[in-house]
Amino acid sequence: MDRGLFLLPSRIGLDVTRRQALGFISHAHMDHVAQHAMALCTEPTARLVRHRLGNVSTKIMPLGESIEVAGLKLTALPAGHIFGSAMVYAQHDKGTVLYTGDFRLGPSATAEQAQLRSADYLIMECTFGHPHYRLPPRDTVIEMLLEKIRAAFRRGATPVISAYVLGKSQEVTRILTSQGIPVLQHPDIYAISQIYEEAGCELGDFRPYSGRPIPGCVVIVPPKPLTPGILPGAVHVEKFHVTGWALDKRRKGTAPNEHWIPLSDHADFDQLIHAVEEVGPKTVFCTHGPKSFVEELKSRGHDARWLE
Ligand SMILES: [Zn+2]
Ligand SMILES: [Zn+2]
Repeated sequence: MDRGLFLLPSRIGLDVTRRQALGFISHAHMDHVAQHAMALCTEPTARLVRHRLGNVSTKIMPLGESIEVAGLKLTALPAGHIFGSAMVYAQHDKGTVLYTGDFRLGPSATAEQAQLRSADYLIMECTFGHPHYRLPPRDTVIEMLLEKIRAAFRRGATPVISAYVLGKSQEVTRILTSQGIPVLQHPDIYAISQIYEEAGCELGDFRPYSGRPIPGCVVIVPPKPLTPGILPGAVHVEKFHVTGWALDKRRKGTAPNEHWIPLSDHADFDQLIHAVEEVGPKTVFCTHGPKSFVEELKSRGHDARWLE
């Protein structure tokens, strides 16, 4: 059996991670991309995919515009996950399908705000599909991040944020620079930030980290252990993890000088429920996340199924 999701009859792969003749790429995270013969994606995603995989032929899908592909009418809609991330809405004689890819509702500093659309069938990413994963309001989380960073500065420490190189790093950078806090980035993050800016997403005052911290600047590094090679010159460090999984850490407690901030680029439990209600599908197909979410949806009167 060929694993992965496909839109029939034209067999368009949806975030399939093996090369396809025709593949829709919702966004440039590595678990969603492959060097397809022809990739359907937004312009920022095309640039980011090329940065990660080398040259890939693309057919650009501008957000909100429809294109005809092999008998299907396809529309890319913003997914609110990272810059350029898109859902795809497919129209066919037999009905409509909304495939979310990774998504998050509400405002973002770098991603275009998600737009849902009613569809007969919804294929939804359900990473946080458990009631435990209810995130505090975004403004509260950002306020928490800023307060803790300012407190670290007052203690004479260098705040070092560990975040995914693509997406979260740039989101946090924009949040900080818009508050007048400059950012120093690990080279892998800086390379991607430059692509963000080339594609039209401004990130403010950020520079590559070049050997030593600068007072008043936050440093952002990939989520790896802080070996001296990663951060030369930094002595008194306070480490910040910025991720939805912080909700797990809060229960378990954390080390001193280590902070967990629950800022996520995925929909939390309440947003997932809201998305299903807004799309109003006949059937929801759930991908990722806990299988118990299917039962959760059924108990709320939805026809829900798990998609491997
Ligand atoms: Zn993603
Ligand atoms: Zn993903």
